[in-house]
Amino acid sequence: HRRQPRIFRIRTVPTRLNHLNQRNNMSISIPVSFEFFPPKTAEGEDKLMHTVAELAPHNPEFFSVTYGAGGSTQEGTFNAVANIRAQGHQAAPHLSCIGATRSKISEILDGLKTQGVNRIVALRGDLPSGMGGMGELHHASDLVALIREHSGDYFNIHVAAYPEYHPQSRTPQDDLKNFVKKMHAGANTAITQYFYNADAYARFIEDARKAGVDAPIVPGIMPITNYSRLARFSETCGAEIPRWILLKLASFGDDQASIKAFGEEVVAQLCQRLIALGAPSLHFYTLNNAAPTLAVLKNLK
Ligand code: FAD
Repeated sequence: HRRQPRIFRIRTVPTRLNHLNQRNNMSISIPVSFEFFPPKTAEGEDKLMHTVAELAPHNPEFFSVTYGAGGSTQEGTFNAVANIRAQGHQAAPHLSCIGATRSKISEILDGLKTQGVNRIVALRGDLPSGMGGMGELHHASDLVALIREHSGDYFNIHVAAYPEYHPQSRTPQDDLKNFVKKMHAGANTAITQYFYNADAYARFIEDARKAGVDAPIVPGIMPITNYSRLARFSETCGAEIPRWILLKLASFGDDQASIKAFGEEVVAQLCQRLIALGAPSLHFYTLNNAAPTLAVLKNLK
């Protein structure tokens, strides 16, 4: 028995990107989705279900659960999805193709369909170093094509997008070309890597539209809670943290309360700008903690 979608009434702030701003100074509503990683322990599983319960009142379009390329945590992903769905919520597994065979992926797709799961976040993934070969599917576009070939229109497919470009893309043009190819292979929606520079998102949307992609491109939002973890993450995934944010966070040292307050304000302002730019919804990287995401949503209200 699902509740009506919760509407966030947001009064957007004027931005210097007004030429792209279709929603400025209007009261609007924005759907949300929340991402988790699969817990590794029974305690982690309990904590995740508690987090789900805390976020559920925001009536997300779906919860998603990440997937470990190369074998790690894959069962955990499907178990977490089943547990979330058992609570009456929409949930989508992430599925990566690097290192996998076509028959293994087809088997997974059949299993998901049997369970009634009809949404997938489809990725290439990154093989842990020294772990196995590339497998039969080398790019996310190959996975999207296989899902469509095997299951027709059954699945709603989300793919990844990189407003600051994927670290392995040779050029921004290559990145865009490969993104377009992935969308044209049959993806319904894209979710971006997190970023703190709204201009990069605005530019990416503009380029994607010019290249013929009409599908929604949902910004991925990473709440800021911890200086060193954010710096480490961002180095590996190619997301830039603006110098002013890094310096400010570093200046707080161990003062967690100041980091929290600053992080909440910065991320809420980013969300407001993205909404003003026409973001179709917001996808939160929760890292299995409800509080930082709830604080941002509260700041948005
Ligand atoms: P692709 O779209 O295949 O792109 C990867 C690189 O290959 C890019 O540089 C692209 O330009 C290039 N490329 C693509 N197609 C071609 C082609 N035909 N020829 C030449 N080059 C090409 N990782 C996980 O392991 N598990 C997860 O659950 C997970 N969830 C994620 C969720 C989101 C929303 C995002 C943004 C990322 C996620 N990732 C996850 C990380 C992702 O797997 C990595 O960023 C990975 O390096 C690339 O995956 P992709 O699907 O974007 O790959």
